Amino acid sequence: MIKLEFYRKNIESNKNKNFILSNIEYNSKKDGPLNKYCYIIKDNISMKDTVTTAGSLFLKDYVSPYDATVVKLLNDAGAIPLAKSNMDEFGMGGTGLYSGFGYVTNAYDENCISGGSSSGSAIATALYCCDFALGTDTGDSIRKPASFNAVIGYKPSYGLISRFGVIPYSPSLDHVGLFSRKFKILFDVMNVIAKKDEKDYSSQDANIDFTFKNIDLSKIKFVVLNEMYEGISDEIKELFEKTISLLPSKLSKVDFGKELIEIIPSIYKIISYSEAVSCYQSFSGMTFGEKEKGNSFEEIARKTRSEYLGTEIKRRFTIGTYCTSFENYEQMFLKSKKIRTLINNRIEKILNENHFLISLSSSTTAPKINDVKSGKYNDIYADNILQIANFSGYPSITIPMGKINGMPIGINVTSRLNTDDYLLSFAKLFSKLIKENNNV
Ligand code: GLN
Repeated sequence: MIKLEFYRKNIESNKNKNFILSNIEYNSKKDGPLNKYCYIIKDNISMKDTVTTAGSLFLKDYVSPYDATVVKLLNDAGAIPLAKSNMDEFGMGGTGLYSGFGYVTNAYDENCISGGSSSGSAIATALYCCDFALGTDTGDSIRKPASFNAVIGYKPSYGLISRFGVIPYSPSLDHVGLFSRKFKILFDVMNVIAKKDEKDYSSQDANIDFTFKNIDLSKIKFVVLNEMYEGISDEIKELFEKTISLLPSKLSKVDFGKELIEIIPSIYKIISYSEAVSCYQSFSGMTFGEKEKGNSFEEIARKTRSEYLGTEIKRRFTIGTYCTSFENYEQMFLKSKKIRTLINNRIEKILNENHFLISLSSSTTAPKINDVKSGKYNDIYADNILQIANFSGYPSITIPMGKINGMPIGINVTSRLNTDDYLLSFAKLFSKLIKENNNV
C-alpha cells in the first residue's frame, strides 16, 4: 500500500516534533470498507498489546490487554493503525504543553502551541501522517487544536462512539471524535464506528445514516451569539463576518445571556475536575501503572502519585476533591450541575429555532508558547462557547476558515443532538464555499 509507506515516512521524518509516542506494527489483511485508510490513535485509547500512556508517566509502561471498541471496529473494517499520538496528560489541558512526554508544537510555527489535549492527533493530520486520527473532546480538545492547525476536527453527539477502552477524564463530558482533511473520510469512518456498544453504559443507538445530504443552503437558518464578539481582534472579526456572509442562508444574531456565557469555565472546571477525581481513585500504585514502595496503602498511593503525576493533574485533583467534599458537594458540585442544565436549556431553545450555531473555533490563532506559559493568554467568551456542545452533548465541528499572519484559524458549527449527518453535510458545503473564497 503506497499510502502506508508515504505516511510512515512522514512520521519518521517528523520524529523530532514529538507528536508520536509509539509506532504500531500492524499489518491488516482484512478486506473491509475502510481498508484504504491509515489512522493514528490518541494515546488515551487502548489497542491490545500496545503501550497506552494517556500522556502520563504514571502509565509509561502500561500495555493494554484489550482493544477499545472504536479501535476494534476500525481494525475489523480493514483500517490500518499506524501510531499512538502524544496528548496533554489524561486529556487535562488545552495547549499541548502538559504531556509527561514533552511539548507538542504547532504545525505552522514551532514557537506556537498546538492546542490540546488531542495535540498529537491534530498535528499528525496536519502533517499528512494519516488519513484520519482519533481524538477525545471533553471541553474543546478536538475542535481547538483543529482550529490552530487547519484541519477538520469533529466531536460527534454524546454516546455515538463507544468509550469502552478509552481512559476517561470526565465521563459526562467525554466524547471520542475524529480529525481529518477530508469529509468523505469522516462519513466513511462514522458509518463504521457509530454503533451502540453494550460495554459502554452511555452508548446510544442513534441509527444515523452517514451519507452526504445535499442540503439547500438557502433554506437553512443559522445563528451567531452576540457575546462571541467580545474581546476578539478586528482582523478575526472581519474574517468571521466575511466567511458567514458566504452562506446564502438566513442569519440571526441572539444573546445567549452574559451570565451564562461567563460562568461556563467555572461550571466546566467544577464538573470535570470532580468527575476526574472519582475516575482516578484506582490510580493508587496498587493496580494500574507505576508503583512506589511504602508500608501502607496511603504511603504507596501518596508516593506514587507524587512521583508520576504532572503538576496540572495534581492541581485539578486538589480542586476536584475540594468541590466534592462533604461540606462543599451540594454548594459546588450539585449547583454546577443545575447551572449546566440552564445552559443546556438555553442552547436547546436557540437550536429549536435555528439549524446551526456558528462560532469561532478559537478566539485567536495559536498563541506563542511563551505567552501561554507566562499567563498572557486567556480564554475569552468565544472560547467558552465550544464547551456548550460538551454540556449538551450536541455534535460540533471545526473547519478551517482562513489565515491571519500566516497562522490558521477555524470556524465552528454545532447542531441539535443526533443530527450529525446534517452537520457533516452542511460543514462540507460550507467548507467548499470557504475554500473558493478564503485563503485556507
Ligand atoms: N482545554 C480543556 C481543559 O483544559 C479541554 C480539555 C479536553 O477537552 N479534554 O480541560
